[in-house]
Amino acid sequence: MTRLRQFDVDSYRILAELSEAVMFEWQINPDCFFAAANWKLNFGHDPITENFSQNIEKIFFMHPDDKDVLLEYVNKIKTSPDELSFAQNYLKIEMRLKNKDQEYVWFRLRLILRYIDDVHPDRLLGMMTNIDEEKKEFELLRYQAQKDLLTGLYNKMTANTLITEYLENSCLPDKKQALFIIDIDGFKEVNDHFGHLFGDAVIADLAQRIEKTFRETDIVGRIGGDEFIVLIKNISKLELIEQKAQELLKYLKRTYSSNGETYAVSASIGIALCPDHGTFFTDLFNKADHALYYVKEHGKNNYALYHQKLPEAAYNNARIDKQKLDSTKRRKKSFHENVIEYVFKILYHTKDANVAINLILEVIGEKYDISRMFILEQTSVGGM
Ligand code: GH3
Ligand code: MG
Repeated sequence: MTRLRQFDVDSYRILAELSEAVMFEWQINPDCFFAAANWKLNFGHDPITENFSQNIEKIFFMHPDDKDVLLEYVNKIKTSPDELSFAQNYLKIEMRLKNKDQEYVWFRLRLILRYIDDVHPDRLLGMMTNIDEEKKEFELLRYQAQKDLLTGLYNKMTANTLITEYLENSCLPDKKQALFIIDIDGFKEVNDHFGHLFGDAVIADLAQRIEKTFRETDIVGRIGGDEFIVLIKNISKLELIEQKAQELLKYLKRTYSSNGETYAVSASIGIALCPDHGTFFTDLFNKADHALYYVKEHGKNNYALYHQKLPEAAYNNARIDKQKLDSTKRRKKSFHENVIEYVFKILYHTKDANVAINLILEVIGEKYDISRMFILEQTSVGGM
């Protein structure tokens, strides 16, 4: 009987060429690097083969945020291999590498360390696969699960979870946290008069204004049709709360005019403080909501901090009615992800194109941080 021949180097080479994965090898002493021929297909050039540990960043063009794991691993193999744990003989890393078109693309690297004897590693074998599509699909799914698609803010469930977790685990005991609930005043009239799509654009615009009022580390979410929630973290000075509330009132006061009629929106804000009014999310939510209800009942376009003397019964009934309304909300596509589609639909369906154009320019300006004047100037220069 003929003995099966062991895989030889040539077989590995052929398999490597057939595979979509890129195989490579670092020979630790004499510090040389070799890669299969398809390296060049991905990265546009053959890798440097000499002095791998010195040239690693000229061989793998790693994204600055992802490079530490590989650099530390290679450094440890080189300088203190005896400290490597058994688990470190096999490593899986996901990182972005610059491809031949100079774009960062996600790759998964599987690395296996081979030893001459029990202590001295002599080769690091690697296999690298392009996982860019997989990664982007995952990111998209995660985004869709966590975000409110119309505004790009956290959706109700995620905002509630993030705030709950933060209050339970991360807030500093000597600092205060403030929970804001914001409801837009008079939004229904704008919706009814200009149409639902225009109403969507108004919500998207107001959401951006709310987001810009706070730090990136604060938690901002949309929890209903025209209702938003914000947790301001670690407040050193209580004046900040009043300052933020005033800013919101200013930025969320807007008017939309058409055919001689003007529709105005503004904001009502209820505020509760942690730990003064509670340390759990539900307590703070109910109290901020109660304060919001008080503002709604007393003229709107204002803010109130919760206090114990607020009347209870009327608030409880009103809250149940509002929740019923919100539960009928339709699911929609993102305004920001579908700006062009939305713009055309709004222009098509809105009775007054001038009002629609003004709002669209403002929403786009807010999003890309450019003033409306700048957009108009650029439009006229481009059109000449
Ligand atoms: P108030 O001043 O008392 O807050 O009343 P309001 O006119 O702002 O109306 P309210 O807050 O009671 O209800 C918000 C309305 O927003 C109800 C619903 O018709 C509308 N709405 C809810 N979700 C959406 C949405 O996703 N898009 C649009 N365009 N409208 C929505
Ligand atoms: Mg409202």
